[in-house]
Amino acid sequence: MSGGRPEPAILTLNAGSSSLKFGLFTAALGVMATGLVDRIGGEGSLVLRAASGAPLVPPEGLHRDFADHAAALATALAALGALFPACAIEAVGHRVVHGGPGHDRPIVIAGDTLDRLAALEPFAPLHQPHNLAGIRAAISAFPKAAQVACFDTAFHRSHPFVNDTFALPRAFYAKGVRRYGFHGLSYEFIASALARDWPALARGRVIVAHLGNGASMCALREGRSVASTMGFSALDGLPMGTRCGQLDPGVVLYLMTHEGMDAAAISDLLYRRSGLLGMSGISNDMRKLEESDTPGAREAIDYFVFRIQREMGGLAAALRGLDGVVFCGGIGENSRLIRARVAEGMGWLGVHVDPDRNAANGPVLSPEGAPVTVLTIPTDEEIVIARATTALMPRRKEAAP
Ligand code: AMP
Repeated sequence: MSGGRPEPAILTLNAGSSSLKFGLFTAALGVMATGLVDRIGGEGSLVLRAASGAPLVPPEGLHRDFADHAAALATALAALGALFPACAIEAVGHRVVHGGPGHDRPIVIAGDTLDRLAALEPFAPLHQPHNLAGIRAAISAFPKAAQVACFDTAFHRSHPFVNDTFALPRAFYAKGVRRYGFHGLSYEFIASALARDWPALARGRVIVAHLGNGASMCALREGRSVASTMGFSALDGLPMGTRCGQLDPGVVLYLMTHEGMDAAAISDLLYRRSGLLGMSGISNDMRKLEESDTPGAREAIDYFVFRIQREMGGLAAALRGLDGVVFCGGIGENSRLIRARVAEGMGWLGVHVDPDRNAANGPVLSPEGAPVTVLTIPTDEEIVIARATTALMPRRKEAAP
């Protein structure tokens, strides 16, 4: 970006299979803009928003062909450059789904980092290659900027062995077949928000329910993850928009041997055609299911709620008790129905939701004096990436007098 006195800025990128989410931050971590390029690989659209959430020009989005992530990034940068001509991007922070067993914190991308992250692609074949495509596009756009990788798995590397392993022969653990857990950037944000706004609770035992199109839950003790509902892949645990959640591995064997399905067909079924969409036969969108009165929609919601309750009981056991519950993600932050339904079955654990507080969307949902503090906290993965990126940026030399 050009013109005027350069103002240092940080870019965050979250590259999905056909989308690119981005955020532009000042050096002091103020949000300048956030945006999304959708449907990369065809006729897609770019949407840009100001820090207030208000759409930026053009409000209806920019529609054009985006051949690949590099093309999407180039268009996003051109739009940002027109809006913020003085801004000079000094560092780019990337969301990377998998850091493998070795990474428990963000890293600066240098030397053979990209090759080592590419070697983890078999662990996350639907996400990792796209994350790396985003990094390559950013390196060619900003060859001099620091590039930082922030891993969704890193926050969970503190799990004790019993929550890190499967009961398979040890050789598989050594090869990296482990319970990694994901949504780590979201959980890190919630842990930091608790430490700032609820310090006593942050020192206790808290279950965080990240309920969005992807959904998982995490048990925090003193702000550190001790267990998560997701495991080796982002398929395990809760049912999601289109993912199945917990599944008996015998089902996969049956699909292979009796339904003649190969790995690609099973992958498509479990990642894209299951969950709320598969059960309801209507949609992966919770709002649509809540509005529908079909038995499929009702049963999909019932199953979603029941699995959250089951996992809450399991995670409370991992924590040996419970002091707090935090709801976040699109459903957790907005769905009064799901929060109320989950709490209805969890009174025995001390989890109660006050109807008026729930209707007001919190932030405190539990009634006065309840044994478990129930909160809703809007999560913010982008700011976690921006913070980590600033922390790892090489310090700028002061200008000579
Ligand atoms: P996310 O992936 O975090 O953006 O969350 C997306 C999910 O949140 C979708 O299933 C939406 O239907 C759901 N969602 C967003 N707003 C609401 C709402 N007001 N009530 C129920 N679900 C909602």
